[in-house]
Parts: sequence; structure tokens; C-alpha cells
Amino acid sequence: MTEHLDGSWFTEIFDRHGSAFSLKVSHKLHDEQTPYQHLEVYATETYGNLMVLDGCVMLTDRDNFLYHEMMSHPALFTHAAPKRVVIIGGGDCGTLREVLKHPGVEKVTQIDIDPAVTRASEQFFPALVESNDDPRAELLFEDGVKWVDNCPDESIDVLIVDSTDPVGPAEGLFKTDFLKRCHRILKQGGVMVQQSESPLYHTDSIIKDLRNDMGEAGFDSVATLPFPQPVYPSGWWSCTLAGKGCDVKSFREEDAAAASFARDFYTVEGHRAALVLPPFMQRLLED
Ligand code: SAM
Repeated sequence: MTEHLDGSWFTEIFDRHGSAFSLKVSHKLHDEQTPYQHLEVYATETYGNLMVLDGCVMLTDRDNFLYHEMMSHPALFTHAAPKRVVIIGGGDCGTLREVLKHPGVEKVTQIDIDPAVTRASEQFFPALVESNDDPRAELLFEDGVKWVDNCPDESIDVLIVDSTDPVGPAEGLFKTDFLKRCHRILKQGGVMVQQSESPLYHTDSIIKDLRNDMGEAGFDSVATLPFPQPVYPSGWWSCTLAGKGCDVKSFREEDAAAASFARDFYTVEGHRAALVLPPFMQRLLED
């Protein structure tokens, strides 16, 4: 739900949680009703450009690194030797850019349902698309659920679900059936990671359900990693990893420490710490 207080503020209201988040905007840069969603881009006074889909904040220039690094590096350093990576959603291309920083990765296919998101990113978030010409990158525009359906068995090392919230076009990406198909297309030792909403608002609902569904889908291990994300509901977000024949609670610490690529948030120590769930989450997930 979006409300503009006096024309100079963008506000996203989280009605169910009795809270809201506002950014002071200087002007609107883009407004488009795509076949899938309402896409807006604003120039803000202190967070750079802001992308909004269906009234929900997707990203800002200033803080997207938190989300994109946590959606990519923990999963890639958990897999023993990731070569073949798939991103479902992620049309802004920020996660793709992070994945391509891993030199061992041979091919990354990104499947977003809506080309308008990538076009807007090219125009208003050029830093996020700077690796799109990498010969290892393939960008497809179709429904991720259908793409996974048609993908051969045991062909993927790391599968990243970088989607919008579980309503509208992304609803199918949170269903048990979809997770079963994700499990099917992963090789043994494969790792899946899905954005899993706010630890404060969604631990006993979306996060708990996703973890249970991942178990039902056949995954052997599950780990939810919380991380800060100031522009999302509650200012705190999470990703949930699931392993097929591997333990997602451990990762290649030496390789992560030795990695020389640029990053602003991900560290070995931060990854280790994110694997330790706060007691309130442990309690809610056990109940
Ligand atoms: N960081 C964001 C968040 O957590 O709110 C997600 C960013 S990314 C822009 C989300 C993308 O998921 C959008 O570009 C949207 O088009 C895409 N998406 C939603 N449903 C999809 C589906 N069924 N298949 C492929 N992409 C989908």
C-alpha cells in the first residue's frame, strides 16, 4: 500500500504491521503499468534512485548492496564449487552482478517475468547492470515457474529465487510444488536460496512455512540468514538457504576469506554470525 503524504514523500504503509517507511523524493522519474506490475522510479534526496513495484519498495541506490550480496555470496560460498547458477526474478540485475564476481561460475541464467524491470534498471540503476555483457550471463524474460518446469533434472549448482513478495506474479515461487521442482533441477550438493521476508514480521509465518516446505520438497538442510535492509518492512530482512545432499550451515570459509572481489557488506565473520539465529527466531521456528 502506498501513500504520498504531501507530494514530496514516498511512503509504503505496512498496514498489517502498523508501520510504514518513507523517503523524501525530489521527483518521479518513471511510471509504467507493465503487463505484470506497476513500476515506478523516483529520485530521492538521500537514497539515490528508488524502484517501486506495485507500491512496494524494491531497491534504492544507497542500500541495495546489503540485499544483493546476501542473496548471492552465502549460497555461492556454501556450494563446494558452483559453476552453473540460475536466478529466478532479480530483474534489476544486482544479484546477477554479484554472482558474476565468482570466477569459478561458468554460466548464470536470470529469468525474470518482466523485461520492464531490467529496462528500468538499465536506465536508472546503471551500476547494477554493469556486468550484463559478461559472456557467462544469459537474460531470459518469462515466468520462472514455467522455466523451472522445463529445466532438465540435476543440471544446476545454485538456484537463487530473488523475487517480489509472495503475492501477484511471485505467488507461485513460494509454493511447495515449486520447491519440489527446484529440488529436482539441482545437482547433488546443490544449494537453493530464496528471499524470505522480515525476521521480525514473518518468522512464524512465511519463514517457518518456507523452511517446512523446503524440508517437504526433499532438501536435507535449511538455514535462514537475517541481514539489515533499511528500506524493507521492519528494516530487517532474510534469505533462506536449502541444501540437496549438503549442509548449508557450513561454508567454504577459507575461499570466502581469500576472495578478492569488491563487496561492501559480505564478510566471513558476517556470514558465520548470520548463521546464528536470534533466540526469538529459534523459539518461533521450534513451536
Ligand atoms: N529485492 C526485491 C525484494 O525482495 O522485494 C526483489 C527484487 S527483484 C526486482 C524481484 C523480481 O521478481 C521482479 O523483477 C519481478 O518481475 C520478478 N518476478 C516476480 N514473479 C516472478 C516469476 N513468477 N517469474 C520470474 N520473475 C518473477
